Amino acid sequence: MKQSKLLIHTYRETPRDADVVSQQLMMRAGMIQRVAAGIYDYLPLLLRSIRKFETIVREELAKDGCQELLMPTVQPRELWDESGRWQFYGKELLRFKDRKDGDFCLGPTHEEVVTDIVRKIVTSYKQLPINLFQIQTKFRDEIRPRFGLMRGREFIMKDAYSFHVDDADADREYWRMFDAYKRIFSRLGVKFRPVEADSGAIGGSFTHEFHVLASSGEDAILSCNACEYTSNVEKTEAPQVQFPYASEAVLALQPAHFHTPGIVAMADQARAFRDDQHNGLPLDHASKFYVFRATKGESAWVVGVVLRSDHEPNVVKLKNLLGADAVELAPVADAEKLAGAPSGFIGPVELDIPVYVDRSLEGAFNLTCGANKDGYHHFGFKPDRDLKQFKGFFDLRMAAEGDRCTRCGKGTYEGFRGIEVGQVFKLGTKYSTTMNCNYLDEAGASKPMVMGCYGIGITRTIAAVIEQGNDADGIIWPWALCPFQVHLVPIAGKDDTQTDAAEAIYRELTEAGLEVLMDDREERAGVKFKDADLLGCPIRITVGQGLVKDGVVEIRERASREDRKVPRADVLATVKEIAARLAQA
Ligand code: ATP
Ligand code: MG
Repeated sequence: MKQSKLLIHTYRETPRDADVVSQQLMMRAGMIQRVAAGIYDYLPLLLRSIRKFETIVREELAKDGCQELLMPTVQPRELWDESGRWQFYGKELLRFKDRKDGDFCLGPTHEEVVTDIVRKIVTSYKQLPINLFQIQTKFRDEIRPRFGLMRGREFIMKDAYSFHVDDADADREYWRMFDAYKRIFSRLGVKFRPVEADSGAIGGSFTHEFHVLASSGEDAILSCNACEYTSNVEKTEAPQVQFPYASEAVLALQPAHFHTPGIVAMADQARAFRDDQHNGLPLDHASKFYVFRATKGESAWVVGVVLRSDHEPNVVKLKNLLGADAVELAPVADAEKLAGAPSGFIGPVELDIPVYVDRSLEGAFNLTCGANKDGYHHFGFKPDRDLKQFKGFFDLRMAAEGDRCTRCGKGTYEGFRGIEVGQVFKLGTKYSTTMNCNYLDEAGASKPMVMGCYGIGITRTIAAVIEQGNDADGIIWPWALCPFQVHLVPIAGKDDTQTDAAEAIYRELTEAGLEVLMDDREERAGVKFKDADLLGCPIRITVGQGLVKDGVVEIRERASREDRKVPRADVLATVKEIAARLAQA
């Protein structure tokens, strides 16, 4: 491809409205253009990378016998009513009416449509298992579209759905897809991790997310430094930590309210009791209390959660424990009304709501908490004794870096940031039951199919790859996804010897099957080099004075920035050798 013919405009300046590196570089390199919030044009350069990734995905899925199809983006309400999701999917589901006043939505995912296909065609155990996938544009009306292609509203996804006679077969397919994903992301040459993730409260379901590691990632991951256990912090099991006992003097104290005006912060709460009389209460004795509002379907209720003061609540764990659809902090005004005290002095004792206590407080006593009285804290709180509706001790906190691993008991957790690029999910019979997707088994009995679903964010992955591969000058593409493999840069456009040689090299490499972008523009060398660094093709060949004087060109690898002078006759062989090495990496 000749650069003068390529639809591309590059920018020196970092665009103001781009908040992550991948978005900045893709905009500067002329790969994307913003059309509306979270909606982008995929320009020719980007589309080449997208197509390469899609090819990798198709090749690996074909090995496992997955069949490709294409479902509609516009979906009728009726199907979503059947699964119940028309009502419960949030505002991410973009709903609209057609000219006949019928309700439709833009597909954010395709469980309903694919289940409808399969229930119409597959009736017998003999036709199972089956795994169907598509690569298609999805729409989710994200509340905060940001980070360019990483969290768009319109984006490309590979979504696959499998159907099975029983749990065991669905599990087998799950691990097969898990392995396929490992192969797919390995081929990209990026650092990634499969991560145990939250599957919500659906029985019989489990899930892994695949994360590309990058400091800009939205997800926190904890990984044991001694065993394999790696999980999304939303789900990471927190070890139960021993409650440190206070001194004898504290043990002797009687439960009471103490006047603690102005004490709101946790550290201050414990410190307020550190005087002669109370003999220095460790911070661990300060407890934290949160009022949450849970919803499930039409019903809503209020629950309390107690934690050690230095622990953070994990809303996902609470949601699963309650079997709720959603859980959020109750509005401050509601909590204050419930407690009859201002925020900062609200505590669980005497409140007539169900209260769940983090298991690190098992055995704890002589805790401090708000006294539900303006300006007062309570001392001497023991959860299992003092709560009106004590619901038990559970794992309700965020695990943290340095916590002991719950799986092996030996290592401790280390923290990473990750970008979720894919997910494998065992769905169980959630959709087949509600949508009557059944088959007849060998004995002629009708049974719901057991399902799995498997997604990869195609466009998000490209962005994640750039988040991992870049430097101050631009993108550093891995070989597998580069839009062009070789950037050929003749620097003196007016010198016939140079342009003729460049043309010849262009033909030679192209005929050898290499993807070459030739910068044939009338630009200064500096401009061309800057663009070459920005675009980040793995190999740059510079044709300049060296060719005229010594018969050599300069070959540079973008990642290592190593230059070497190569005689004209050796160009093809050298490029092939570098290509073979980079393709291996
Ligand atoms: P997230 O938690 O980031 O919102 P998700 O878990 O809702 O994503 P899935 O339903 O698992 O997403 O979709 C499969 C894949 O599609 C994700 O792993 C991700 O790579 C991609 N994806 C999801 N939402 C977006 C988005 N808004 N923009 C780009 N890619 C997305
Ligand atoms: Mg996901």
